[in-house]
Amino acid sequence: MGLSGQVKSIAAVSAEEVWARCMEVIQHNMGNNPAPIRTFLGAAQPISLKDGVLTLRVPSQFFYEYIEQHFSTLIVKTLRRLLGPKARLEYHVMTASEAAPMRLPSQELPPPTVLPGLRGVQPFPSHLNPKYTFENFIEGECNRLARSAGISVAQRPGQTAFNPLFIYGEVGQGKTHLAHAIGNYARLLHPEKVILYLTSEGFTQEYVEAVRNKKVGDFLQKLHSVDILIIDDVQFLVGRESTQDMFFHIFNQLHQSGRQIVITADAPPQELRGLEERVTSRFAWGLSAPLYPPDYETRLAILRFKLQQEGVEIPEEVLRYIAENVHSHVRDLEGVVIQLLAETSIRRREISMTLAQEVVSRFKPLRTRAVTVEQILRAVSNYFRIHPEELRGKSRKKEVAYARHLAVFLARRYTRHALKALGEYFGGRDHSTILHSCQWVQEQINLSNRELMQHVQDLERVLFRSA
Ligand code: ADP
Ligand code: MG
Repeated sequence: MGLSGQVKSIAAVSAEEVWARCMEVIQHNMGNNPAPIRTFLGAAQPISLKDGVLTLRVPSQFFYEYIEQHFSTLIVKTLRRLLGPKARLEYHVMTASEAAPMRLPSQELPPPTVLPGLRGVQPFPSHLNPKYTFENFIEGECNRLARSAGISVAQRPGQTAFNPLFIYGEVGQGKTHLAHAIGNYARLLHPEKVILYLTSEGFTQEYVEAVRNKKVGDFLQKLHSVDILIIDDVQFLVGRESTQDMFFHIFNQLHQSGRQIVITADAPPQELRGLEERVTSRFAWGLSAPLYPPDYETRLAILRFKLQQEGVEIPEEVLRYIAENVHSHVRDLEGVVIQLLAETSIRRREISMTLAQEVVSRFKPLRTRAVTVEQILRAVSNYFRIHPEELRGKSRKKEVAYARHLAVFLARRYTRHALKALGEYFGGRDHSTILHSCQWVQEQINLSNRELMQHVQDLERVLFRSA
């Protein structure tokens, strides 16, 4: 069959059909590694097929880049086979307003459960907090995947491969915010759907009460009626066996009938100790998306946004100073903003560099004072199984240099030693070498080097748990 024949026979074919064929080919070619396929291609929607051009709608720039980098060759090959040599792939990256068209400032959004006409649909409180939206959730490298996936899930609950959507990260990193934002946005797009947000304590409480009042039947009926179930901080189900059994049952029931499940936790599924393995393995069925500590650019953006919301003007240099010196948690950044506001509104002080320095040093979370370079060196040494002296030594072996970069980076981040002192500690290196290590690691974080980010996060966990 000639090419023209193919083109003709395909003329009536829809974008969906062509896309389905591409997915088959990719799945066939990538066989044993379906996770990224589900993650990234699951979020893409074929929206048109015209003159041999297939257009995919993707949730964000990040999805576009990932698909383009990893799958486009195969997709285009398949398209050409199906549609002829001129076939092409194009993308439509959703704009912020398409992705999260919440124009109203969040305070003006009426609480969802009291919207007229919705009462019949949502027979019980959703527990959604309207103050947490996508609009006021700043996007950055540290949260891009979780945010994009959250938007997709709210747009097409139960219809994407992200089921469950499992969001994990340390405390203060935005899990609860994102969980509510998904619910609020879904509520806006799908007013007919029943949404329920519960913390795992809330879930436990309702269940225990149902048992006590002999109303387990009602409890089950309620939970089974939910279209989008959001469970926050699932790690707290630990050690509660009968509650876990009940949760397991509900999870399966909802998942099987195509309802959307969103879960947050302080660790990825495979590290959730104390939860039954049959439960945690199900968490990994969909997408597990991390929330990392915010990188510098994101910290800056969050600060700028929060101060702007409060109507406070602040010199750029001061803003940068704060973003440079307050890391780790978004919650810490908020703490600084609140203190600055207090100083300006109550004491009528100008926001100056001096004031910022004062607030930042007063604020500096206790934990950052508690670690020493020695502890960092020991943690890195244990983690990578490299002797501390080798880390401090001259070795240029790849693993050693990598571990050393991380140790230097953490030392710079969590201790107050100057570059020069750190250089001396790390085997008499000069300050520019130390700076280079810090910059290299930061760059990797900005590039979303996930493996490295995981290492940093693991090490931070070790350091601050034992400190
Ligand atoms: P977690 O549930 O992970 O402990 P939260 O969702 O409670 O964290 O977030 C802590 C605070 O930081 C909240 O006030 C939240 O609004 C804010 N926050 C977190 N991430 C962001 C972000 N990307 N943009 C704006 N605010 C954020
Ligand atoms: Mg929380």
